[in-house]
Amino acid sequence: MWQQRVHIAAADRRRDDEGRPFAELLVEVDVPANRSWRPFQLAFVCLNLPSLTDPGHPERTRPGLVDLLFFPTGGGKTEAYLGLTAYTFAIRRLQGTVDDYDGMNGVAVLMRYTLRLLTADQFKRAAALVCACETIRRQEAAAGNHRLGQTPFRIGLWVGQSVTPNRTQAAQYHLDAARGLGGRRGRGSSPVQLAACPWCGLELEAGRDARTDVERWRTLVFCSDPYGGCDFTAAKAPGEGLPVVTVDEEIYRLLPSLLISTADKFAQLPWKGAVGMLFGRVSGRCERHGFRSPDLDADKSHPEANSHPAKNGLPAAKTVPWGPIRPPDLIIQDELHLIAGPLGSMAGLYETAVDRLASWTYKGESVRPKVIASTATVRRAREQAYALFWRDLAVFPPPVLDVENSFFALQRSVSDAAPGRRYRGICAPGVRIKAVEIRVFTTLLAAAKALHNKYGVLADPYMTLVGYFNALRELGGMRRLIDDDVKARLRKMKRRGLGDRRLFEVHELTSRMSSDRIPEVLSQLRVRHETAPPAKGTRYPIDVLLATNMISVGVDVGRLGLMATVGQPKATAEYIQATSRVGRERHAPGIVFTLYNWARPRDLSHYERFEHYHTTFYRQVEALSVTPFAPRALDRGLTALLAALVRQDSLRWNANPRAHDVPIPDKELDALIAEVATRAGEVTSSTDIANDVRAALQHRLDRWAGEQRIAGRTVGYRGDGGAVYGLLQNAGNGAWDVWTVPNSLRETEPSINLIMTSSDDAGAADPAFSFGTTLVGAGGAPKPTTDEDLTPEEADAVIAAAAAEGDA
Ligand SMILES: [Zn+2]
Ligand SMILES: [Zn+2]
Repeated sequence: MWQQRVHIAAADRRRDDEGRPFAELLVEVDVPANRSWRPFQLAFVCLNLPSLTDPGHPERTRPGLVDLLFFPTGGGKTEAYLGLTAYTFAIRRLQGTVDDYDGMNGVAVLMRYTLRLLTADQFKRAAALVCACETIRRQEAAAGNHRLGQTPFRIGLWVGQSVTPNRTQAAQYHLDAARGLGGRRGRGSSPVQLAACPWCGLELEAGRDARTDVERWRTLVFCSDPYGGCDFTAAKAPGEGLPVVTVDEEIYRLLPSLLISTADKFAQLPWKGAVGMLFGRVSGRCERHGFRSPDLDADKSHPEANSHPAKNGLPAAKTVPWGPIRPPDLIIQDELHLIAGPLGSMAGLYETAVDRLASWTYKGESVRPKVIASTATVRRAREQAYALFWRDLAVFPPPVLDVENSFFALQRSVSDAAPGRRYRGICAPGVRIKAVEIRVFTTLLAAAKALHNKYGVLADPYMTLVGYFNALRELGGMRRLIDDDVKARLRKMKRRGLGDRRLFEVHELTSRMSSDRIPEVLSQLRVRHETAPPAKGTRYPIDVLLATNMISVGVDVGRLGLMATVGQPKATAEYIQATSRVGRERHAPGIVFTLYNWARPRDLSHYERFEHYHTTFYRQVEALSVTPFAPRALDRGLTALLAALVRQDSLRWNANPRAHDVPIPDKELDALIAEVATRAGEVTSSTDIANDVRAALQHRLDRWAGEQRIAGRTVGYRGDGGAVYGLLQNAGNGAWDVWTVPNSLRETEPSINLIMTSSDDAGAADPAFSFGTTLVGAGGAPKPTTDEDLTPEEADAVIAAAAAEGDA
């Protein structure tokens, strides 16, 4: 962690201070303040050491324990996780093979987030830790000490196809595009997810620093340090480069020690047999290409042989039997409060499969990974954790008598030294919200400029205006207004005694962005508004950042001080999280302007209770509910759970066409069903629900057997458009039936359009009001408007629609 901390600090400094030798910066930042633990971090790490050291620890058997880290954002939770990650890496390898489970390989730590923005930002810090671990392993190995093993420590980013490529060929395609070959645009999924080398801070360019090794099926990223000082250049780490794996197939074959994923990605469990490899279910290991599984082998487009002759300088290679590999020892669930509502219920169902796959037998007892989580709210967290993880919960730091002083955290009152954040509410009855937005944005921008003219860089925190929007449509509308009205009005503000300002850099942080742009915007956000104009060739500071709920997690830019929130966000937790993005540091006290739409009763009510609400808003945070075994959740996710368990628990039925050979009925399957039913019963404290779940699973198995009996076809989990009939159906526009399986945990929240028709309408034979409903998967096009539900393409469409509306 010491190495990780000073390398991150030196890398950050290198960006501002280009030209100075890295080694010099490294010495300069290596001071206690940059590499010390906070007491809560140390305590949390110590608290978890016993359960990470002893697989049979009571916190890992049943009922087990989730340790919940309840600490304000920006307090350093990530470092606490990473400390535990490093420990887990080492202890697994030092223990080696335990009860026939190989601990030298495999995923040791699974870190899950809910949104991809957070993933990209924290990925950098985690990558630096893995670089540090790998450097230590290599140093030990060079000294002849192999206790940390031969397999490099690696970090994997397992997210969505829209962010990272699925296959090495897809990575090649992207890299070619980045080099400008073939006239293809380099948009979309990129194998290079880091803007800079995590170890030395040198910028990475996909076209220059990444390449695919076609023979070894690897995508490699090398640090381009021209002086060779970095440990991850092509010269110092030949054939490996940065220990970062982002291509799905390479993740399955290499099994990186730390795997960062979104909660959503586990929707692949029933669809992709190779996912089971992440839990140690491998059939063998090719000396050239890595681990194998029946499903990977069944992929005819990418055949794997049992031996390869020497070629292009590579030695001959063969496949050796391997396995089982020890499943992950630690699961980290960040921002637990986001896993609630319909998403949380689905996550709870899939977690049933994850838990089973991550269980193994140690000294004759079934043991599970340790789960740690962090949250911004602890209301009903115990119930939530039990429903999700089927484990008890302990909150850290433990609640004590004095809420203002928990020993680890001290609540300070607002003072000059701790300025905090000021909230201002704006409501203009009778005026359209758009007109209010234009005036408020213009005034804030011009007023900041006036301050900047007077005080120079001291006014920098207010020179970047962050606009927060509850929906993409509203953001899209504002974007147009800024380009048009706001820019025009700004030129007249001097007459009112404010600054004369031109806007150069207006950016967005939304799901409509291509994911390789996100790190760029985050790094540009750190550029300060200096008194002198930016030098040629350097980046301009951002004037306006328009964001949706993507900003509420993980954006940690200390210089931001000014925010305008348009409309009251749906949830109080979201409001707190979003507005906490400004005023994070002492030199930049935050000020938040919340604009209320008088035409919306909810906004108006918030405006009327403004002071009370804001002085008590931590108490106003809504309780969360997670109900994985509720009937509607079962409708949507139970088939997926069954298929995931059958396919992944045993290698025998892992390959796609093996769905045809699953013996029904079967003792092993009965045991799986019994386990799910027990969990359902305990989570809901209802034997009726346990019985319902058992019956529903049995019903699905019976129908599965029915499908197998239909002559003349082979049943696979997924159809191949040819001889293999797909048991599982994609959630398309048709109605859901028992075999519909979602591709994402978010496909469950239907968007409903209510069309109200007045009886005055000509020719209306309907009653006074009729309701037209549109459901995802029930015909008609869904129209989601919150950010997290959308792919970039859908988001583009929504914004285009909003812009067209503006034209009209
Ligand atoms: Zn480097
Ligand atoms: Zn091979």
